[in-house]
Amino acid sequence: MRYLIADSHCDSILDVASGKRSLAEETNTGHLDFPRMMKGQIALQFMALFIEQHYRPHGVLMRTLELIDLIKNEINKVDYIDLVLNKNDLNEFVSNKPKILLAIEGGEAICGSLGVLRCFFNLGIRSMTLTWNYRNEIADGCGEEPFGQGLSKFGQEVVREMNRLGMLIDVSHLSEKSFWDVLKYTEQPVIASHSCCKALSDHKRNLSNEQMKALAEMGGVLAINFYPPFLNLTDEATIEDVVNHITYASEIMGVEHVGLGSDFDGIETVPTGLENIEYLPRLIDTLENKGFSSEEIAKIMGNNIIGLLKRVL
Ligand SMILES: [Zn+2]
Repeated sequence: MRYLIADSHCDSILDVASGKRSLAEETNTGHLDFPRMMKGQIALQFMALFIEQHYRPHGVLMRTLELIDLIKNEINKVDYIDLVLNKNDLNEFVSNKPKILLAIEGGEAICGSLGVLRCFFNLGIRSMTLTWNYRNEIADGCGEEPFGQGLSKFGQEVVREMNRLGMLIDVSHLSEKSFWDVLKYTEQPVIASHSCCKALSDHKRNLSNEQMKALAEMGGVLAINFYPPFLNLTDEATIEDVVNHITYASEIMGVEHVGLGSDFDGIETVPTGLENIEYLPRLIDTLENKGFSSEEIAKIMGNNIIGLLKRVL
């Protein structure tokens, strides 16, 4: 059986921005580049444009535009990668031709303007994490806990506009109140693109059972992050820890609502066995050994995320 593998988060563009490497060439630096995506048989890779906090407030717009230019430039260096811009782009996947979906990580990028949001959509952005860890014009992030507030009035407008445009809302990094507000106002299902299960690892970046159930009920997906501290609160983890979170999330949410969100190149330590994007197919065997059927594995490895995008875009 050929599995379509989808990964809903990586920060690899930052290594390009800092001049460390090009994603078009295979290196042994970092966790992900285009050739290693091919080796890992990746069908769909989200590429996050993370806006570092020191660009706030006046530099974020320029920085986001620069990162959009950089990632497009990297994609143009090879002839085998296309951007996902609408549902039709998700109908056919050819082996050795990974597709990329552009995402913004941190809604401060839109500078409090729906017009800027629409401009980013026109430049190809198809998903946005509403906040990073801190407060912005849209909402509070999980770094504001225990005093985290919810969506602002402007944030409600952003949710509505993203629904209308066909841009996937990403609730990873939100404060708990913001999470519940988004679920109240969105008319489309949403993704938690790189978080884990709080019941297994009590970290502010992970979701509680109640959040996971609500996310599933509205048709959303929780994509499991590979970062050891999110998996088990220590700096070391293995592929088994990732599978434990997948298994637990499948029990709580149903197997149709679980996916993979590696966070490669955004995390400084990785699980043993999942050191870079090339090794994602190892999860297939590990899940098989845990008793998952091939249909269930296909959903977890990529079909759930692809199905969600087909509804939203
Ligand atoms: Zn993140």
